[in-house]
Amino acid sequence: MTIFRTQSKYPMISLEEAQRLLEEYITPLPARRLALAEVPVGAVLAEPITSPDAVPGFDAATMDGYAVLAEDGASRRRLAGAQRAGSAGAAALESGQCVRIMTGAPLPQGADAVIPVEYTQEADGWVITELTPQPGLNVRPAGSDIAQGQLALPAGTRLGAAEIGVLATLGIARPRIYPQPRVTLLVTGDELAALDGPLAPGQIRDSNSYVLTAAIRNIGAPCERLSVVEDTHEALRAAILTAALRSDLIISTGGVSMGTHDLVKPVLEELGVVHFGRVAIKPGLPLTLATVLRVPFIGLPGNPVSTLVGFENFIRPAMRRMAHISARWRPQRTVKLAHAVRGDKRRLEFQRAIISQENGEWWARTTGSQASSRLLSLVGANALLRLPASDQEYPAGSEVIAILTDAPEQDTIA
Ligand code: AMP
Ligand code: MG
Repeated sequence: MTIFRTQSKYPMISLEEAQRLLEEYITPLPARRLALAEVPVGAVLAEPITSPDAVPGFDAATMDGYAVLAEDGASRRRLAGAQRAGSAGAAALESGQCVRIMTGAPLPQGADAVIPVEYTQEADGWVITELTPQPGLNVRPAGSDIAQGQLALPAGTRLGAAEIGVLATLGIARPRIYPQPRVTLLVTGDELAALDGPLAPGQIRDSNSYVLTAAIRNIGAPCERLSVVEDTHEALRAAILTAALRSDLIISTGGVSMGTHDLVKPVLEELGVVHFGRVAIKPGLPLTLATVLRVPFIGLPGNPVSTLVGFENFIRPAMRRMAHISARWRPQRTVKLAHAVRGDKRRLEFQRAIISQENGEWWARTTGSQASSRLLSLVGANALLRLPASDQEYPAGSEVIAILTDAPEQDTIA
């Protein structure tokens, strides 16, 4: 008996080849200036920041107290005025005088030390102290935080809270940065229902919109979701064109398999170029990379686990690359299987697992049914086990590679 098979026209390529093509077609974005308040945490600085000024710009008090001449010693001083933070009005100090001063206020001319208020008594316009100040006591000299002309932040710095603070301190209102890609999400499927209404027969809730929006926001990138796209040629075509005009990256879910309503690939062929249409991985076989109007397009299969595993293997690395972030790959480690596991015969499989250290060794337990619809297989998982295609079961105790999905990314794949 002959079994006829309808074959996909797209060759099944390896994960490595797919990731190589991803690097080829998804390239770093040009730098632009952004208002500091709009700079996403984790963005990469595109220019070196050399300090235009000294910080602080003046010798400043670091305590509330009295600005004095140190050489006057522990004597009684005549109160000659007051200096508040933000003003520089006090007259120059002469020997035998002091000026009441607040933390952060500039030292009056002539003063070279600040005696904290706790060590003084003030009465009838006189201040007495038993403290003998050294020159420089409680004074923060001009330029002591950042010197004028100092390289404060080199180009390529990733901007966290402290780095954004340095830019603010230096008055860099619109730094040149590499922006995060603007992503448009196209979720396809006529079976998808909103969260708040009843489910008609055959309908399911749309979880992918929420999964991907959360995953993309977690990266710090802006993400817009167009309304759920109908499984028709016209609707998909219109949605892809709309997305291409306003995005740096388009991500779709669903509609990339072999069903008669899986129209994403045919529409992409019509509007642009499909670079690959099948990858030898499980979940995620029909994952697709295309370019439409110069905008890269990644088509994920509809099953929620395929979506999130595809995000981990392809989309997050691609988005990081677009944003010039070199740390793109999760670290990996060798672990031992705590129980036997069956992989896939033809495809590299990513099984969701919890790994833990026991007596100095790392052990992995998979998270129950690995069906690609079962989001609960990802809940609580901290690793993806990389199981190369095999006819054989992996026996308990086998060593396999685990991708640590909770760990911060690093520069190299392994
Ligand atoms: P597809 O890739 O369009 O063939 O869809 C594969 C499976 O994923 C089908 O069972 C779909 O119902 C399901 N699916 C597609 N899109 C979503 C979504 N947005 N949320 C949850 N499940 C989905
Ligand atoms: Mg579908």
